[in-house]
Amino acid sequence: MSIKFYSYEKLLDRALTKLPKRPTSRGERFKIPVFEVMISGKRTFIQNFKQVSDTLNRDPRHLLRFLLKELAAPGSLEGNMAVIQGEFNYRRLNSLLQRYIKIYVFCPVCNNPDTFLIKDKRVYFLKCGACGAVSSVPPLV
Ligand SMILES: [Zn+2]
Repeated sequence: MSIKFYSYEKLLDRALTKLPKRPTSRGERFKIPVFEVMISGKRTFIQNFKQVSDTLNRDPRHLLRFLLKELAAPGSLEGNMAVIQGEFNYRRLNSLLQRYIKIYVFCPVCNNPDTFLIKDKRVYFLKCGACGAVSSVPPLV
């Protein structure tokens, strides 16, 4: 038998997620995440992939699909990591991540990252939690 204790931060997070979302000004609490990259045996491992997706409030599969399309390489999710076939360096992967954030996270109207990705049939829309704008985003095949 073991008892699970939540850390203070975790409790705070849980408390905060119960609060209604307030509009935040850009950069107030949003920090652009960075991939941790390791290359081994002709494969590239993004070690904090799940964590980055969570920070962005995006489905890891959506983020991975974007990367694989841009890199034209196969890959998969393994636990908290993304594993991509081939060798891709830190700089390239992080510049793709920045592009993803620009297209699929920041509201093009008010530049706020508090957005949701909504799928309607095969089309994705970005809905802003701050200004309420709904913008279409490029599809990922
Ligand atoms: Zn907005």
